[in-house]
Amino acid sequence: MEISNGVYMLELDYHGNTIHPTLLWDQEMAVLIDTGFPGQFEDLKLAMEKVGVSLDKLKAVILTHQDIDHIGSLPEILLECSSRIQVYAHELDRPYIQGERPLIKDGHIQNPPKGRVDRTLIDGQELPYCGGIQVIHTPGHTAGHISLFLRKSSTLVAGDSMYSVNGLLGGIHEPTTLNVEEARLSLKKYLELNLESVICYHGGLSRGSIHEQIRNFCSIKNEASDRL
Ligand SMILES: [Zn+2]
Repeated sequence: MEISNGVYMLELDYHGNTIHPTLLWDQEMAVLIDTGFPGQFEDLKLAMEKVGVSLDKLKAVILTHQDIDHIGSLPEILLECSSRIQVYAHELDRPYIQGERPLIKDGHIQNPPKGRVDRTLIDGQELPYCGGIQVIHTPGHTAGHISLFLRKSSTLVAGDSMYSVNGLLGGIHEPTTLNVEEARLSLKKYLELNLESVICYHGGLSRGSIHEQIRNFCSIKNEASDRL
């Protein structure tokens, strides 16, 4: 689905579930945010070709975090485009992506996907690609989870910090979130951004009253502290 000129939310099917890597491009290059499950490389390539972006154009891969459905096709991407591609992720998730430590949630899997991370990203960093990409460190789902704010289109690529259902944000997916409190604090960072669209990896696009929805997920009902 086209979000705006040069911003495309991909839709990849995995056994009946749809996941949403984001593809950005301009005259010079293309950037892929997250890479799908293992075994989805051909689907990914096809989805990119459908919108007119060949793999040759891909110059950067940004990984929002270490989970297997986000790093799955990284090994194949590196095999095909190794020398001209830069892989970005947060420092705290890097050793898992590189296979130096077992994946936190998928450590039992035989031969998990792994690949080099060339550069680590920090909160507030700006990548000068495709109109500007702002990095937001949003720990909680994993410690090294990042979200990306696409300046030109005021689009937030939220990774797994939130999920959505039928165009509405569903908040934090607690069963897969390692630290829910931290995840809630991370969402507050989104309130500082001028958001028109949000892409959740699971659930896809949300538009309209974004801040209002996010504010609800940030408010913590803590009866214990109410009583104090
Ligand atoms: Zn995840």
